[in-house]
Amino acid sequence: MSFWWDSIGGLRRTRDPLGGPLECDVAIVGGGYTGLWTALELRRADPSLDVVLLEREACGFGASGRNGGWLLGELAGRPSESLDAAIRATVDEAIAAIEREGIDCDLVKGGTLSVAVDPVNEARLQSDEANLSEPLMAQRGSWIDADELAKRVRVAGARGALFDDACARIQPAKLARGLAEAAERAGVRIFEGTEVTSIEPHVAHTAAADVRARWVVRATEGYSPDGVVAPISSSMIATEPLPADAWEEIGWQGCETMMGAAHAYTYLQPTADGRIAIGGRGTPYRWHGANARMERPDDRTIASLRARLDALFPAIAGVPTAAAWTGVLGVSRDWTPAVRADPATGLAFAGGYVGEGVAAANLAGRTLRDLILGHDTELTRLDWVGHASPRWEPDPLRWIGIRGVYMLYRAADRSEARSGKPSRWAALAGRIAGR
Ligand SMILES: Cc1cc2nc3c(=O)[nH]c(=O)nc-3n(C[C@H](O)[C@H](O)[C@H](O)COP(=O)(O)OP(=O)(O)OC[C@H]3O[C@@H](n4cnc5c(N)ncnc54)[C@H](O)[C@@H]3O)c2cc1C
Repeated sequence: MSFWWDSIGGLRRTRDPLGGPLECDVAIVGGGYTGLWTALELRRADPSLDVVLLEREACGFGASGRNGGWLLGELAGRPSESLDAAIRATVDEAIAAIEREGIDCDLVKGGTLSVAVDPVNEARLQSDEANLSEPLMAQRGSWIDADELAKRVRVAGARGALFDDACARIQPAKLARGLAEAAERAGVRIFEGTEVTSIEPHVAHTAAADVRARWVVRATEGYSPDGVVAPISSSMIATEPLPADAWEEIGWQGCETMMGAAHAYTYLQPTADGRIAIGGRGTPYRWHGANARMERPDDRTIASLRARLDALFPAIAGVPTAAAWTGVLGVSRDWTPAVRADPATGLAFAGGYVGEGVAAANLAGRTLRDLILGHDTELTRLDWVGHASPRWEPDPLRWIGIRGVYMLYRAADRSEARSGKPSRWAALAGRIAGR
């Protein structure tokens, strides 16, 4: 499954499947962060609501139990200033909720570093900063030079980094497990091993029976069946615990999450038990989304993640890789996440977070709560509410498009490393993706 689940005893179904038909106020399909935060928030706001959550495998089976553990104050797409402010505030909102529920998930709010290792990504990071509007720029953190960076973490060849304090490191599976327990304590009924075969207004169909509800919420992200989001893989490896002298050489005592700021970027975290976990895109998409059923990345992806890690931290080249795993993100056609709830049909949805769903799922959960309760709040007026992305083209166009975009990003990185100049391939990739 993932190093995160393996290190806490593995993912197991601990809850019964649905045994027969039932009626409730809200039926939530999917037991990842989106479904769990939504369920918890609804019951906390209105304990008289009957909230049922249906999960095909076990809670935390999906991306929520496999991710890089960045609780990051950023949303994919081009969020407006108010949405950007909301997602940044969500980092502290989520931390407060995690503390309130007594969830131990190795959380440390150390901020995040986007590290530049060549002049082209240094220039890009600094110009990204300059391209933002003033309020966004003020929020987006600040450039620190190579010497300042080395006081935090010593990365081979680093030229500096963009530091943003709106990020916390977490252990993803511990958060998923803790949220499921919190939702149950709040009175949510959770059924595991229960696949919803189709959804229609006011009904979630399962093989065993139908669940009738005033609201049915789809929270199945990269496993959604209908072309609204595409399942795109991200893969990770984790090392064995590093020896003390390697940590002394590297530093990194502040638990910042870290990004290797190439176009085909990598994301890293130092784990609570002294390892480094690193992730990246690998093979992003397989024919008809077959990647959503993969449990292990291919060997080439594992080798390339390991090579990227060793290049950043040569001191750990001899530390073995302990685990490798993969998961799927939900990516909408315009790379823009959305929250939707239609009172006429009782159908609701949140997702399409691309690779930034850990904090976004909390914001989505609180937003769905207000929409379902019919409250007009600041959250329900954010402009991802009701956003409709175009549908994905079917394969082979989708296959060609997604694979092509990532090929171009990799080509851009190679060209920039060779020439020392910005590559046009990256802009082309962005245009194809509609970003
Ligand atoms: C490797 C990796 C690294 C990532 N790193 C980060 C990161 O560091 N920071 C960040 O912000 N985001 C990251 N993401 C993205 C983030 O993990 C997701 O956006 C987030 O977890 C989505 O949560 P979710 O609940 O919407 O979906 P999921 O966690 O995928 O949950 C969906 C659930 O629905 C269930 N389900 C599916 N179909 C059905 C059905 N028919 N019936 C019943 N149940 C069903 C699944 O079993 C699953 O449990 C990463 C993702 C991956 C894969």
